[in-house]
Amino acid sequence: MSGLFGSTRRLLLSAASVSTPVLAAVSESRLSTHLAALATLASTPPCGPSPDLSAEIKDSKLLRTQNYVGGQWIEAADGRQLEVVNPATGKMIATVPLSGANETRAAIAEAATQFDAWGRRPAKERGAILKRWHAEVVAARDDITRLMTLESGKPLAESRGEFDNGVASIEWFAEEATRTCGDVLESPDGSRRFMVLKQPVGVVGAITPWNFPFSMITRKVSPALAAGCTVVLKPSESTPLTALALAELADRAGIPHGVLNIVTGDAKAIGEALLKSELVRKVGFTGSTAVGKLLMAGGAATVKRMSLELGGNAPFIVFEDADVEKAVTAVVSSSHRNSGQTCICTNRVLVHEAVHDAFVAALTQRVQALRLGSGLESGTSQGPLISAAAVDRVEEKVQDAVAKGASVACGGARPSWGPGSPLAGGFFYQPTVLTGATIDMRMFHEELFGPVTPVYKFSSDDEAVQMANNTQYGLAAYFFTQDLSRAWRVAERLEYGMVGVNEVAITSEVAPFGGVKQSGLGREQSKYGLAEFQDLKTVCLGIGPR
Ligand code: ADP
Repeated sequence: MSGLFGSTRRLLLSAASVSTPVLAAVSESRLSTHLAALATLASTPPCGPSPDLSAEIKDSKLLRTQNYVGGQWIEAADGRQLEVVNPATGKMIATVPLSGANETRAAIAEAATQFDAWGRRPAKERGAILKRWHAEVVAARDDITRLMTLESGKPLAESRGEFDNGVASIEWFAEEATRTCGDVLESPDGSRRFMVLKQPVGVVGAITPWNFPFSMITRKVSPALAAGCTVVLKPSESTPLTALALAELADRAGIPHGVLNIVTGDAKAIGEALLKSELVRKVGFTGSTAVGKLLMAGGAATVKRMSLELGGNAPFIVFEDADVEKAVTAVVSSSHRNSGQTCICTNRVLVHEAVHDAFVAALTQRVQALRLGSGLESGTSQGPLISAAAVDRVEEKVQDAVAKGASVACGGARPSWGPGSPLAGGFFYQPTVLTGATIDMRMFHEELFGPVTPVYKFSSDDEAVQMANNTQYGLAAYFFTQDLSRAWRVAERLEYGMVGVNEVAITSEVAPFGGVKQSGLGREQSKYGLAEFQDLKTVCLGIGPR
């Protein structure tokens, strides 16, 4: 992820704010009276979805534009609103509440109230409810994927891929939690017996980014709920609509009110309220390393558990014995997916000098053929970036590389759409290949987060591994070789949480996802991801002298 505090969004003050009761001093007790006051606002939403957005979505009830707290749809206490923008056009498509600490505390109180009952339900019952949520979400695939594309910009095919990947997490964790089992340990003496229980950690604060508006939620909320935790989720301010649609479907599926709560708005205020609360026992976060560090520091006061999935700077090594055609296909998909805006996107392509020229020629041809456009149009292979600021950041890094000697093999600029094009206001950057990249360039060290593929040359395995590891990040790395011994040696030496060997599709609900070094802590997905939401409790039974 890039940027310190997310992109700047335009804020609106609604007329409704004038007479709204403010939740000035909300304690962490059940806040039903305050919620009732807030819910009054729900009948007169100040803005909500735009007509353009409504026209795109068949099931209009999925277009939720309010916080979901204790099963009620509520505005921000002061009525303030945040604009959601379609990055392909730059136009506002909806507004959602610009909530802060008070709404977050209300949500925490609801989650805390529900925790005991939800956590004590048998995992099989929780799993059955999650499966109903899964079924509701699957049935809404068309609308949800359009919504994802409209607010994140990614091509529909990519939204569908993210959806299928993300919805699998709901089903898998619904099943996996039923297999939870503790331990009975061999006692070193005869007078005691030791057992280990796995129990839900408590209320979880989940903070998710815009680049995967759907799957970053399902991979946090599903294991949390399956384990018996309750959740307060803060989606990205750029992509709150997918999250709120998931809440509507959770409601339809019968997830008890207060078990899943969603608060949209001011990242810092919501984050601080989650961190300060003693009721919140864990924070699960995906986003930038900079914000991850802030959360870690903020969580120290209450010694919160943390799962942090942070930035990446993925190398892709093409050895001289690689299948070049397959490697090119893999680089294009991994580097240009979501316009290069994923934490596991290839950021640095390291190519052996013996195959460098052939690789660059094939790569350039393939990247030139990518079609830039609106994600809703069939045939679009690359959509916009998330914001104007994101385009500026990519442009700066390309300019830095060119000033230091890189050559532009293709792209290297913003597109010009021509007068009258609806995409003229969008946040686009051309698919770009740079050759002659070197380690003194900013893009070698900083996360790229744009549709740019820089190619670096190497001449030995040691040099490639050293270059690959020469970064503060350690999330995903890829390499292509046909030599089995080299595959083992290199996979073991790469300082990364995930390594793709002759493969870039490394994500699955069954496989642990996460990084080392400054790419984060903990793992999502898989049985290891479930364990992140469980505390171990040792029960020691004294049975007296033998
Ligand atoms: P990016 O710059 O790519 O948007 P961020 O790390 O800023 O990445 O954002 C990821 C998530 O973290 C978003 O939901 C964002 O709102 C949230 N966030 C940003 N700043 C803070 C903060 N200070 N405290 C809590 N959450 C934050």
